[in-house]
Amino acid sequence: MTDQTALVVGASRGLGFALAEEWLGRGWHVIATVRDRSDDLTALAERHPGKLEIETIDINEAEGVQALRDRLAGRRLDILFINAGIARAIEASPATASERDFLDMMLTNAFSPVRAAEMLRDLVPAGGTIAIMTSELGSIANANGGWQLYSSSKAALNMLMKGYAAKNAGDRHMLLLVAPGWVRTDMGGSGATLSIEESIPLVVDMIEANRGKSGLRYVDRFDKDLPW
Ligand code: NAP
Repeated sequence: MTDQTALVVGASRGLGFALAEEWLGRGWHVIATVRDRSDDLTALAERHPGKLEIETIDINEAEGVQALRDRLAGRRLDILFINAGIARAIEASPATASERDFLDMMLTNAFSPVRAAEMLRDLVPAGGTIAIMTSELGSIANANGGWQLYSSSKAALNMLMKGYAAKNAGDRHMLLLVAPGWVRTDMGGSGATLSIEESIPLVVDMIEANRGKSGLRYVDRFDKDLPW
């Protein structure tokens, strides 16, 4: 057993749900957030009495994130994992996409996760980890035009975390921009190469391997650095 605590933001389904389930399975205490009710998460809490707390926030609403921060005052988060993300207009280019879809992705995938990290970082002690789910598609060096607008939002996330890392270097946190592989979820679709079980346990192993270190890495589930 362990008294370690992970907060997973965006855990109603898909990879976030699997992260919560994986840490519970490893004996951790988990705080998991949803925007709305998640029957799967409620059932998971019933299977792990006293180990899973469910909180409700929309990452795009700063007041709600601040209220969560206030509710958690005095708690210690060994890992803060911000998973929430959306994909819209995946086939489109700026000429064909709606501006709204692009702005929604920039807000949900880039701006809001880093704002949440800033708002919650003081719950993470020195030696703790702040991880944010990015994507292999966020690599500018490797870009091939696929999911162009979504990729741009993840590249923006990566850039925002570069700035965050520089400004908060004194925190001595390990900062991880996590690329989970292409995974069969609502977002990844049924044609994705990996099952959730082929991705998330490796993601959690990778996070474990980086614990207690500090600095910023853009890294895949095999603990391999990706080109920015
Ligand atoms: P998913 O099945 O669509 O799940 C997305 C999760 O994000 C849901 O829990 C959703 O909550 C939550 N979310 C969306 N907008 C939110 C908001 N405004 N506030 C709070 N939570 C919000 O997607 P997924 O495949 O699990 O993806 C999870 C993360 O991994 C995302 O950041 C995604 O970009 C990234 N990723 C996925 C893949 C892949 O192949 N699947 C690859 C690379 C990166 P609701 O249920 O309330 O909508």
